[in-house]
Amino acid sequence: MNNSIHNFPIPANEPIKEYLKGSPERLALERELKRQSETAVEIPLIIDGKEVFTNDTGKVVMPHDHKHTLAIYHKAGEKEIKMAIDSAVKAQKIWSDLNWTTRASIMLKIAELLTIKYRAVINAATMLGQSKNIYQSEIDAVCEAADFLRFNVSFATDIYKNQPISSFNQLNRMEYRALEGFVFAVSPFNFTSIASNLNLSPVMMGNATIWKPATTSILSNYYLMKIFMEAGVPAGVVNFLPGSGALIGKHIMESRDLAGIHFTGSNATFNSLWNSVGDMLTKYKSYPRLVGETGGKDFIFVHPSANPKEVAVAAFSGAFEYQGQKCSAASRIYIPESLWPEIKSEIIKLSKEAKMGDVCDFKNFVNAVIDESSFDNIISYIEFAKESDEAEIIFGGDYDKSVGYFVSPTLIKTVNPHFKSMEEEIFGPVLTAYVYENSKVEETLKLCDETSPYGLTGAVFGSDRLAVAEICNRLRYSAGNFYINDKPTGAVVGKQPFGGSRGSGTNDKAGGSFNLIRWVSPRTIKETFISPTDIFYPYMKED
Ligand code: NAD
Repeated sequence: MNNSIHNFPIPANEPIKEYLKGSPERLALERELKRQSETAVEIPLIIDGKEVFTNDTGKVVMPHDHKHTLAIYHKAGEKEIKMAIDSAVKAQKIWSDLNWTTRASIMLKIAELLTIKYRAVINAATMLGQSKNIYQSEIDAVCEAADFLRFNVSFATDIYKNQPISSFNQLNRMEYRALEGFVFAVSPFNFTSIASNLNLSPVMMGNATIWKPATTSILSNYYLMKIFMEAGVPAGVVNFLPGSGALIGKHIMESRDLAGIHFTGSNATFNSLWNSVGDMLTKYKSYPRLVGETGGKDFIFVHPSANPKEVAVAAFSGAFEYQGQKCSAASRIYIPESLWPEIKSEIIKLSKEAKMGDVCDFKNFVNAVIDESSFDNIISYIEFAKESDEAEIIFGGDYDKSVGYFVSPTLIKTVNPHFKSMEEEIFGPVLTAYVYENSKVEETLKLCDETSPYGLTGAVFGSDRLAVAEICNRLRYSAGNFYINDKPTGAVVGKQPFGGSRGSGTNDKAGGSFNLIRWVSPRTIKETFISPTDIFYPYMKED
């Protein structure tokens, strides 16, 4: 046994490549986009390191060209779900006993594979399968995915180092045990990096996972799974289980070995998983750890001292990058009446310049929304606004699903601060503005704080430092990630640990030690060197 304590590299954020015309990264990506566009991949389940084909299949299509099939994937049935549970429980014992350095080195190797050997592959799969432009894919599938791994090695080191004090005649230790059983990792469609991290942060701490990927991100998620295996993640440590969420969720919830759920997605799904755990509580071996990041209704609050152009740029990028399908996307904005005319004219200018279309045309700022049900849901809000006396469409409002699921970036202005699109998560390229009287900052802050059930991200714009400081205090519980003079999206691992409370989740901050600590169950060990040999204390022996 090698007992040395190793130094891992000091983590740093993966540099974002520029993809300028003719650059090596651009040429490699163009080749890979072509290859993946011309290939239809068959995606199996992967259980205990083995491919499983069930012949109950579904299709993966390009959201921006939905007649184009990218892959056929096999769906898990009851038998495969049971196989995955057995596989994860068995693998956890071996994996958690393995030397921590070996686990960490596998994580660091995955980061290298993602950023060097498979950069073009994971970007192309994310662009084509989830309809992201290059930049949105690069910051997600490559940079954030690698950052999670490199920073988590460092955070885990700090956790393992955290030891209690000892004294003469005793040695105290903390053993950071993996959870007993398996972790159910349930990932959303919108971030490849989140899918990776939902598995690998518990795995880093010695756990094994059963991974239910979102149906609309299976292509990139399958490539991730293959990279995990190539890096040396042993059979059974991550079990890849595409299929129906309801069916997989039902059988997983019934397993006595469910030790935790690591979830990102909608409130409806997380709430149903939480309720099922509650119903089954007495059946489990331990209390399952429930970690979930859910929805948002993220805001920008503009103070009268703000710079209108900066607000317009932040609002446009914050609301419409990746078609507003980020949990952090700005979807409501409070603007003082004195600044509205200038902000309006600046943001309209941007809406005319930003092009929409296929991900392979690199000039496009906006691509398609993920699928038909999402498209239909988004346009129901736009139609509602068009028909309302309380709202007007400032720009956008168009949509077309004949080729791909395209919805133009849309700005709604409402006179009702409780208008439906000010309150509900839409998860699409729709921003609603409420223009307030300059004398009503205080009342509008109250509205901003109390309008939605969420508390994920929010931003304030202003140059009056006292006012900004006051607003920051006033909105303390309105957002778990709060931005001053910046858009509310684009959190970076190691810099802005991410997550919100209220209806937005358990706020365990992905990309930080708060999250990793949820995947261990510490055991305290006290060792006494010379044990007492009688039951009496000295004062009892005075006579
Ligand atoms: P979703 O809830 O529809 O799906 C998430 C995952 O849950 C998918 O894999 C789905 O198949 C699975 N699922 C659905 N029903 C299930 C069940 N009964 N049992 C087990 N699994 C089940 O969410 P989505 O549409 O993929 O993602 C969008 C949502 O995710 C938005 O609400 C967004 O705000 C949220 N999100 C939050 C964060 C954050 O950090 N707070 C980050 C990204 C996305």
